[in-house]
Amino acid sequence: MNIRDESALRELNLYPLWVRRGTAAEVESVSTPLAPVVETYNANAAMVTTISKPAPSPTPNIDMPDVGALSWPQLKAQVKECTTCKLRAGCTQTVFGVGDEKADWLFVGEGPGADEDARGEPFVGQAGKLLDNMLAAIQLKRGNNVYIANIVKCRPPGNRTPESDEIAACLPYLRQQIALIRPKLIVALGKTAATSLLGRDATLGSLRGTLHDFNGTPLLVTFHPAYLLRSPAEKAKAWQDLCCARQKMLS
Ligand code: SF4
Repeated sequence: MNIRDESALRELNLYPLWVRRGTAAEVESVSTPLAPVVETYNANAAMVTTISKPAPSPTPNIDMPDVGALSWPQLKAQVKECTTCKLRAGCTQTVFGVGDEKADWLFVGEGPGADEDARGEPFVGQAGKLLDNMLAAIQLKRGNNVYIANIVKCRPPGNRTPESDEIAACLPYLRQQIALIRPKLIVALGKTAATSLLGRDATLGSLRGTLHDFNGTPLLVTFHPAYLLRSPAEKAKAWQDLCCARQKMLS
């Protein structure tokens, strides 16, 4: 195990567990112990059979951008100049998304926070550091076959949850990003990302443990890293979700 792997597993509260249970040689194999975890998860949560279909997007009382035919440069330019919803008035800049534009993995969060608003990049700061370690725990790295985006591209004031009209106004951009990336798996980070993409309200708990469908792309739901920072006891469940995601990609 390299230092990065160890750091990632410590962040997820997993590293001491592996050390206690295994010899040094067994600890080295931590990158491949996914099947037992997935089987347990499947048994507990009736995973992977699923498939919930997304509902139509809500229709806001504002002009939604027509972006369905835009290329990457056109889409980036339009987002940069966007003033479609009221969030733009209170943010420093739009936060488009970052990563490999042909990635197999797409991670979607809720919206930019203060650090993201200042840097113009999603998931920086403490939540970003945890996300990077979550990625490392399943042998992924930001920018390398991974794309990261948010449901809304402008920071909601005070880091409040985006409102439904704001989500509906911004979602066409993310939909077009998904159409351009064509990921093999979408991982929705938190309830807002999950319910916005699936087009229906539900608890995070009810959405975890099921393989959903987003316009033909498998979608899994797990916790938002910011929530995990506040509720570290849930990191073990996030690890289960990540293992299932990786298992799905290997299948
Ligand atoms: Fe435009 Fe999205 Fe920003 Fe609203 S949040 S102004 S729709 S880019």
